[in-house]
Amino acid sequence: MNKTLISTLILVITLCVNANAQGLLQEKNKFTHQDTLRGSITPEREWWDLTYYHLDIKVNPETKTIAGKNTIQYTVLKPNQVLQIDLQEPLVLTKVTQNDKALEIKHDGNAHFVTLKDQQNIGETNSVIAYYEGKPREAIRAPWDGGISWKKDNNGNHFIASSCQGLGASVWWPNKDHMYDEVDSMDISVTVPKGLMNVSNGRLKSVIDNKDETITTNWHVANPINNYGVNINIGNYVNFSEVYKGEKGDLDMNYFVLKENLEKAKAHFKDAPKMMKAFEHWFGPYPFYEDSFKLVEVPYLGMEHQSSVTYGNKYMNGYLGDDLSGTGWGLKFDFIIIHESGHEWFANNITNIDIADMWIHESFTSYSENLFLDYYYGKEAAAEYVIGKRKNIRNDRPLIGQYNVNNEGSGDMYYKGENMLHTLRQLVNDDEKWRQILRTLNSKFYHQTVTTQQIEDCLTEASDLDLKGFFNQYLRTTKIPAFEYKVYKREIKFNWNHVVDNFNMPIEVLVNGKSFTITPSDKEVKSLKFDSDINTFEVDKDYYINSYRVK
Ligand SMILES: [Zn+2]
Repeated sequence: MNKTLISTLILVITLCVNANAQGLLQEKNKFTHQDTLRGSITPEREWWDLTYYHLDIKVNPETKTIAGKNTIQYTVLKPNQVLQIDLQEPLVLTKVTQNDKALEIKHDGNAHFVTLKDQQNIGETNSVIAYYEGKPREAIRAPWDGGISWKKDNNGNHFIASSCQGLGASVWWPNKDHMYDEVDSMDISVTVPKGLMNVSNGRLKSVIDNKDETITTNWHVANPINNYGVNINIGNYVNFSEVYKGEKGDLDMNYFVLKENLEKAKAHFKDAPKMMKAFEHWFGPYPFYEDSFKLVEVPYLGMEHQSSVTYGNKYMNGYLGDDLSGTGWGLKFDFIIIHESGHEWFANNITNIDIADMWIHESFTSYSENLFLDYYYGKEAAAEYVIGKRKNIRNDRPLIGQYNVNNEGSGDMYYKGENMLHTLRQLVNDDEKWRQILRTLNSKFYHQTVTTQQIEDCLTEASDLDLKGFFNQYLRTTKIPAFEYKVYKREIKFNWNHVVDNFNMPIEVLVNGKSFTITPSDKEVKSLKFDSDINTFEVDKDYYINSYRVK
């Protein structure tokens, strides 16, 4: 044990004691040196800006191995000679070269520090080639506990897919594995045994017969893409397509499914153009026309892979046949087609810089399901659906996770997040304005990585509301605002409880069936007086709050 390690340990123990005093022991202890290397913008990442990847690999289903290389092109932002590449064990980074010269690599778990020989000058565009091989982590429970799924279809053909959200793309290929820096464009070349084909992101440029019982499919992605959005899907695929007349012109919509499911898919995938129509209305143009839109069948439930949304919902409506809201509305559409495609706007177009802000992906996308219903079945159906999902909220942890350690916030980012947005829609109180706000988010942050603060600022500015307390309450605490009220003969007294500072949210109440907007406070009990007797009193259910009648 060296001196630095001992002093680090003492520091950690001191921190733990202090943290324990604050009841934070468990949280702080969770994170390791590897989490920091994976989750922070290290000095060895910060100095270079990704411009292009060419991932070129051979996948061998029989041995469950991958071998190949990734060309990583970048622009130099600051002087530095050490570059971090991420690749997770048990895969092996065998060699890294620059200008044909092999470079020294210092391995630190899943992070690899490459010392460059050539001088790195600011503004220059350089590249390195990272060679790797081995048996990647096999997915345990894709897509949540991901890696590579090595499955077979009903006819005994190999059926293989990658999934790596949270875990990171470096579980199957070497890259700069942090959300903040998206590559501008990418080529993906995948060699597989004849009889199979690989479907990745973007457009299929060519299929090469290698004359050795293998073929290579070459895909090109023309738009910025986040790492976990990159995917390989290998199977005995057949394909059908349609042209969708969208806001930005003609959009190719392509569907890759197993041969055995072709007829089923042709009927069931009618939800895809319906989805496109509803989401372009609410969010603006599909963000990746240049790369087409694809639905690709996979041997797991599904994932928002950019421009090649993966699908495994067994051609059923709902979530594997279930309605997450318990209202019946969730059975009006295929959950995976709608939800995962919603991510094209929130996750792929607007991407979080740090995974702690993943609520930006999941809250808006869960919310998108109710906007799909709103478009086809009306506002009331949509509201019932989103309110119905409240039963799934746990309020265990805040929606925002811990920064710089690759840590997601609570799973409440789905159901609570969408209910927060549904509440915000009530505050905006103008559906056309609300739609324009959602479209503004997508145009303002087009193909960008963002922070929670940027989203908050944009929503505040576009809505012209003071939302500081609102976001602090719903994103940063687990407290549900408590509306406490007393009903007298001709008067109502009310206040907020369990709220953060500056929580000044108005709500709507119905008195004798008539709607009133009131703004409770946690500093004083307010009152509303009427000329006639109060017979009925209700709180509008659209607001995600608890209400208590005080006797
Ligand atoms: Zn999602």
